[in-house]
Amino acid sequence: VVHATGVRMSYGETQVLNGVDFAVAPGEVSCVIGPSGSGKSTFLRCVNGLEPVLGGSLRVLGEEVGYNLREGRYRPWSPKEFAAFRRRIGMVFQRFNLFAHQSALENVACAPVHVLGLPAEQARRTAMEHLERVGLAAHAHKRPHQLSGGQQQRVAIARALAMSPELMLFDEPTSALDPELVDEVLEVMRGLAADGMTMVVVTHEIAFAREVGDRLTFFADGVVVESGPPAELVANPGHERTRAFLSSVL
Ligand code: ATP
Ligand code: MG
Repeated sequence: VVHATGVRMSYGETQVLNGVDFAVAPGEVSCVIGPSGSGKSTFLRCVNGLEPVLGGSLRVLGEEVGYNLREGRYRPWSPKEFAAFRRRIGMVFQRFNLFAHQSALENVACAPVHVLGLPAEQARRTAMEHLERVGLAAHAHKRPHQLSGGQQQRVAIARALAMSPELMLFDEPTSALDPELVDEVLEVMRGLAADGMTMVVVTHEIAFAREVGDRLTFFADGVVVESGPPAELVANPGHERTRAFLSSVL
């Protein structure tokens, strides 16, 4: 689903990704850890087509991100092609970014109506199913400020699911939450994983990575330092950097 080789990206003079090699197979849950500033969020933004890849190759969902091969030549995507690509990927951020003036149900039904053109009634019905899936059917008519942080994050997940994504990207989905709210969000993510969703999860929840993750990747200084089965990587890191980082978060 994701095949990154030597992906480079910079903000102006600052080189942020220095040749990232990373792959995710269908149905895999791939967890990513690494120090602040190591490029984890930037890499997710590249996968989602939100940042341009400046070197290497990034294939996601069968597409070379940002380019089409036509008549033997690569041509940049049009804004429409970018939008069509992004629609296939769900993204959940640390901050939930819900629409404050809309109910949970309206937040979930909004994009299916306005982006996919679904009839309002049908969108509300499926939105309700997604809210049920994240355990929030009883809170469908509440606005974000009437919900806890954990509930808001679950609405954000339901909102992403409502677009029937082929890949879900999570960027530290629990790090803005009070500790007692973390588990309810991880529980929803566990359910998604069990249903076979392909997921890339940037998280410092090592227990979650060990239990749910098929693979754990350690980023530092814009490269992948090492990657492997989570339990193995945690028990037996091959690099001193990984060891030091793990002991800081465990
Ligand atoms: P964190 O764990 O803190 O979320 P991260 O691994 O997600 O860190 P990134 O957010 O990808 O790291 O940032 C990588 C580098 O890119 C950092 O040095 C950061 O300062 C820089 N950076 C990020 N966004 C921008 C931006 N919009 N403009 C300029 N530099 C940026
Ligand atoms: Mg980040």
